[in-house]
Amino acid sequence: MPELPEVEGVVRMLKPAVEHKTIQRVIVSPVIYASKAAGKEAIIKGQTPEAFIAAVEGMTIEHIERHAKYIFFTMSKNGGQQLIVNHLGMSGAWFHVAHPDDVIEGKFHKHMHVMWQLAAEEWLIYADIRRFGELRLLREVADYPPLLAMAPEPFDDVAMDYFLEKCTQRKYNNKAIKAVIMDGQVVSGCGNIYATEALFRTKIHPGRKVSQIDKAQLRQLFQEIVAVLTESIAFGGSSISDYRNINGEAGGMQHHLQMYGMKKCPMCHTNTAQQIIAGRNSFYCPNCQR
Ligand SMILES: [Zn+2]
Repeated sequence: MPELPEVEGVVRMLKPAVEHKTIQRVIVSPVIYASKAAGKEAIIKGQTPEAFIAAVEGMTIEHIERHAKYIFFTMSKNGGQQLIVNHLGMSGAWFHVAHPDDVIEGKFHKHMHVMWQLAAEEWLIYADIRRFGELRLLREVADYPPLLAMAPEPFDDVAMDYFLEKCTQRKYNNKAIKAVIMDGQVVSGCGNIYATEALFRTKIHPGRKVSQIDKAQLRQLFQEIVAVLTESIAFGGSSISDYRNINGEAGGMQHHLQMYGMKKCPMCHTNTAQQIIAGRNSFYCPNCQR
């Protein structure tokens, strides 16, 4: 699943490639129409595919930025501004290509669900193998309340104090630390891979209750979350399965992970253990992490 570093990588590449360009035409896949007809909402949320197409054709992409694991496209049309908020879900990816046939990797080519034509030979294509991703056209952020509840960006000065304060709240105090750091209302953009790595680096067992961890350790944990996210951004993100950047390339952070997916602990060579926490499989070293 794309996490914060992968989304950051996508945004950094999208900005110079497509900002200030106008969407001439929108094509939506038959799968999305069928989903809507069946009373579901694959990918395009909150409106019909027809309404989405009518609204988005003619829009200019003014500005692209990342908030946690969301991509915000600020769009303008006829003097007004709107927002398209995108979440990549499990396996969403954007491709910036001259022609749809240039999305050469078969598993993505088969799942090109929303296609924006920017010029005669320029397309921005959203492909999503498992269709858990989202595109949501909003007048403003407040129209979709979950966006208002997100924790601050982990790189912001206020994020550490925000995290420490949340850890004192009864709602989080009694929970497993891994569940808490993966909660987007406590830490923004820390998914399974990076939570696993940060807990290993600080030698904290993923199932330990927040109330049993002292403040100095919580502080150190937050610093390691920021460090591991920063390193991953520098390596172009992790491509465990389906992450691709807008040129179809994989990231490199998966070669630098120490605990996620490992059979043995790189520090003490004990066999790693796994535990399901908040619905996600958690790797840890039963010897190093207490
Ligand atoms: Zn170990």
